[in-house]
Amino acid sequence: MIAEHVDVLVIGAGPSGAVAASILQKKGITLKVVEREHFPRFVIGESLIPRCMDHFDEAGFVEAVEAKGFEKKFGARFLRGDEVCWFDFSKKFSAGWDWTWQLPRAEFDKTLTDVLQQRGVDIAFGTTVESVVFDGTDSVTTVRNEAGDRYEIHARFLIDCSGYGRVLPRLLDLDAPSSFPPMAATFVHLDDIRRPAGEEGTLITFDVLEQEVWFWVIPFSNGRSSLGLVCPKEHLEAIQQANHTDTFKHIIRQSEYYRQRFDGLDFLFEPKQIVSYAKASKTLYGDGFAITGNSAEFLDPVFSSGVCFATESGALAAKLAVRQLNGEAVDWKREYEEHMLWGVSVFRSYIRDWYSGDLQKFFFHKEVNEEVRRKVCSVLAGYVWDKENPFVKKHDRAVRAVTHLLP
Ligand code: FAD
Repeated sequence: MIAEHVDVLVIGAGPSGAVAASILQKKGITLKVVEREHFPRFVIGESLIPRCMDHFDEAGFVEAVEAKGFEKKFGARFLRGDEVCWFDFSKKFSAGWDWTWQLPRAEFDKTLTDVLQQRGVDIAFGTTVESVVFDGTDSVTTVRNEAGDRYEIHARFLIDCSGYGRVLPRLLDLDAPSSFPPMAATFVHLDDIRRPAGEEGTLITFDVLEQEVWFWVIPFSNGRSSLGLVCPKEHLEAIQQANHTDTFKHIIRQSEYYRQRFDGLDFLFEPKQIVSYAKASKTLYGDGFAITGNSAEFLDPVFSSGVCFATESGALAAKLAVRQLNGEAVDWKREYEEHMLWGVSVFRSYIRDWYSGDLQKFFFHKEVNEEVRRKVCSVLAGYVWDKENPFVKKHDRAVRAVTHLLP
């Protein structure tokens, strides 16, 4: 069998893999990326948060993405009936980026891999990882291309950025149950032909239909929008119509705010449905490998933290791998896993408080003071490692403590 040799093999070319690959290449590491699909390919996860921009900047992607003219996102709007809550990222407590993008992931992910290929990174598209065998920190990965040919890639370090493919958790039996109850989502794209002019037409919005049921609207700069519903699994089962298209048309009619704008419009594809997407892993690293992004952990879409977690972990895993390959000792537990799990635990608290209704009470309450809102805004912007922020440091109880004092 043909064998290739690299320092680092990156599995998956989504945002996590792209950021990791870019950082490795900049540090002079020999690497290869293997990606099962051909880009552009559809993937959900279209609302980014500002913390990602730090990673795109470090990876050298911002200029190329900027040139594509994707819609800029300066905050997030939440609706509940007549109530409106707007978080403006420029008012957040922590230092850092105060804008990001909302974009179709197919084009975005391809933009990143185009940049990598222009810089000479070897990306094998249409190539699927089948098995991995470790010998200490060295590994031999067997991949198969679309012609059905198999070959081996020998690497000194492996970064698993395979997202929902979860290559290493599957192969190494590292899947762990998620702490969240099973949720469901259905989503679609459409030509947003009744989009109002001005800011209203561009605002990303989360419309709360019931305490645990919310509807997203993500307008793209190409005139299309992404619409989606997130709810408990049983709720989606209960509202199913004859097919996914009819179910989605039914959902649109549940949103008082958006019914007129979207009712009766054709969809660009059959709405997709996905259930029980929350994932966890027993470990995020081992001898000779790190697991990043969705392959490591995914909680819930409500605060758009998925891509941020993917790029934070991709960037960090790449930098630590470089240090290890250069002969330095790396404490993967402390420097990688604990860092990532801290971010996960902050978002987990906010997601829990969202579905319990506490955070919704907080968001829509008129008497929450501006200073407190700035601190929560930092969390929504992804600055969940800034422990100067008490709403990060005491994430487990901060929101509940404030909410329970509200009339
Ligand atoms: P991915 O983007 O999934 O990339 C992984 C890549 O690995 C893929 O291209 C895949 O083809 C490849 N791969 C898989 N298996 C193999 C294999 N065996 N061999 C080779 N390659 C392989 N996140 C947000 O930030 N904002 C949102 O608004 C948002 N909305 C969401 C809505 C829903 C309903 C859900 C379920 C998730 C949402 N997410 C959102 C989460 C987001 O989709 C992910 O967190 C994000 O895409 C993870 O990036 P990644 O790079 O880890 O993986």
